[in-house]
Amino acid sequence: MTETETTNSPTSETSFRDQLGIVSKEGKRKWIYSKKPNGKFHTGRILFSWFLLAILFVTPFLRFNGHPIMLFDITERKFIVFGLIFGPHDYILFALAMISAIVFIFLFTVVFGRLFCGWICPQTVFMEMVFRKVDYWIEGGPPQQKRLNESSMTIKKFFKKIFKHGIYFTLSFLIANMLLAWIIGSDKLLKIISATPSEHLGGFIAIVIFTGVFHWIFGWFREQACILVCPYGRLQGVLLDRNSIVIAYDFIRGEPRGKFKKGEERTNGDCIDCHQCVDVCPTGIDIRNGTQLECINCTACIDACDSIMDSVEKPRGLIRYDSIEGIEKKIRTLLTPRSIGYSIVLIILISLLTYLVATRSDIDVTILRTAGMFYQEQPDDYISNLYDVKALNKTFESVPLSFKLKNVDGIISVLGDSLNVKTQESVSAKLFIILKRDQIKSMNTPLQIEILRNGETAQIVETSFLGPVGKKE
Ligand code: SF4
Ligand code: SF4
Repeated sequence: MTETETTNSPTSETSFRDQLGIVSKEGKRKWIYSKKPNGKFHTGRILFSWFLLAILFVTPFLRFNGHPIMLFDITERKFIVFGLIFGPHDYILFALAMISAIVFIFLFTVVFGRLFCGWICPQTVFMEMVFRKVDYWIEGGPPQQKRLNESSMTIKKFFKKIFKHGIYFTLSFLIANMLLAWIIGSDKLLKIISATPSEHLGGFIAIVIFTGVFHWIFGWFREQACILVCPYGRLQGVLLDRNSIVIAYDFIRGEPRGKFKKGEERTNGDCIDCHQCVDVCPTGIDIRNGTQLECINCTACIDACDSIMDSVEKPRGLIRYDSIEGIEKKIRTLLTPRSIGYSIVLIILISLLTYLVATRSDIDVTILRTAGMFYQEQPDDYISNLYDVKALNKTFESVPLSFKLKNVDGIISVLGDSLNVKTQESVSAKLFIILKRDQIKSMNTPLQIEILRNGETAQIVETSFLGPVGKKE
């Protein structure tokens, strides 16, 4: 994507691209005091964020058959997704899932721009729907916040700041606990928080670190996370094109901008240059300059401009969800060669992933004749072969395994203890298969071995048996 392809700037003036909206000319951080948004998009986002927050906080406590329905335990390399357990042995599924997720992100961004950032991203949800609301509640609107920050310390200011940061800390502590519940599970978390710190020092330190990091991000770092750190924001430059739906200013309709004078016949465009879209922007940009890296698609400028359009009796939607093609040529299409290409790749990947998950067995057993070993002659005309067994248990419980020959009569003798495989573990063992000489019809007799789990067939493994053909001389 080149700049000329994506910008909807009404002028050739692109100096705004030379500096970030959150950095002053002197190179210092400009603290953003954004106006409180109000309108139908903001109301929709509030409702949707409650729904997302409910999912985030409730899911770690949901159980299916006594196990969490979601868990991302990176410490023990154990993952539960919708009640299905996965471990390190599922690396092919992980790789496929990751590639599918990346292709999905590409497809979604090509079509809908940064819709994810504005509506779903936890950073935006917590920042705009939780922490910034605390600012408005305790310190008031942008002018009051600015005045308070620039004023010298008084008792009133001190208590306001203590109160605000006390709430920030409490919220950060809750988010830290929630994050830990997703990683280690709610049972372990409850054990950590109900014991003394010294009993679970690692867990206690993790909660303290997470709480500190969240307090720092939402209390101080804020929109810089989206603008300076988030790699997804950086991807926009290569993913967006003229058909991508972004939050865009309709410069055809809006320009030339000019102040509104009541009763005067208007010769300018619909933009009355009221600056409201800039004042509400939490990343400090002017959307009228065109699509910019800093725009997190929060919709605040749409609501602000719609309310201005209502007051000057102009149609809403001067700033809206639209593509550059939509604004310039009134052509809106979701089906472009790029979106079709990504969709085809995604369908193939998801089909493959679904097939692999659906056909994935709970127990995975391989039985191979021990390399370099010949057959052994046993008393009473029996022949034996030695085998290596590898068994992997992908279930939540320990599984005792036993073996039975399916296509010939014979004996299977496991060396050592019986084979009991713990959850998500892999064990190796050795076993002998012993056949009567008259069962052997060729040098390599094909064998089918039934793997039994609690007496039920779990898998049938094929291998071969080496032995002499014919009667003993
Ligand atoms: S430009 Fe509009 S949508 Fe983008 S971040 Fe600013 S207010 Fe939100
Ligand atoms: S809010 Fe609308 S009318 Fe006001 S400056 Fe922004 S685009 Fe123009």
